[in-house]
Amino acid sequence: MRSIPDNLEAVKQRIAGAARAAGRDPAAVRVLAVSKTHAPALIRQAYDAGQSAFGENYVQEALDKMAQLAGLPLEWHLVGPLQSNKTRAVAERFDWVHTVDREKVARRLAEQRPAALGALNVLVQVNVSGEVSKSGVAPADVVALAAAIAEMKKLRLRGLMAIPEPGAPQSRYRQIGDLFRGLCSEFGLDTLSLGMSDDMEAAIAEGSTMVRIGTAIFGARQKVKDAA
Ligand SMILES: *Cc1c(COP(=O)(O)O)cnc(C)c1O
Repeated sequence: MRSIPDNLEAVKQRIAGAARAAGRDPAAVRVLAVSKTHAPALIRQAYDAGQSAFGENYVQEALDKMAQLAGLPLEWHLVGPLQSNKTRAVAERFDWVHTVDREKVARRLAEQRPAALGALNVLVQVNVSGEVSKSGVAPADVVALAAAIAEMKKLRLRGLMAIPEPGAPQSRYRQIGDLFRGLCSEFGLDTLSLGMSDDMEAAIAEGSTMVRIGTAIFGARQKVKDAA
């Protein structure tokens, strides 16, 4: 396996190529390094190579890493499913949540966000693949949830997140991009979290502004943990 700095550089090259092919500015696509299952030492290597935004799936694992890396000015994103009994730690410790798909969870995050911190950045997770995934709100229900979140002062609605099923056709990415663009001006959105190691090109072609990259930066994950 190549080094993390080399991998990050290769990811940036892929992003730049995909952005140019789509007539987009490469700088309009952020990299979120998804570090789930990977040791804090690897996060530090990525940070030293210029990466400051990291995504984690499991709340407890993330809290452990935050404690070990407390000296670094990292931006933490929750990209895994969020149960309502875990919202307090998330409201207190994370900067972004990508997986809000219920008003109840949004309300708890807003209530539990400490007064001393700014608004928590949130994305509404959209389920465009029907039964394939149980996470995410149906496209028809996105507006209602977005409108509810927009009223919550301690949350800042930034946009949408989606995880197309493996091998999804390009039309799926377009559907998500169209949904995002349709809501941008009404809700002042600036973030479409779409695309992973294997499909970042398809996502960038349809307007992704944040790709969530694990394997292409850190290499293969050792094991898949049960949802914490
Ligand atoms: C693990 C994960 C990623 C990263 O996936 P790779 O294929 O390793 O790049 C991105 N998004 C979510 C929600 C994930 O759970």
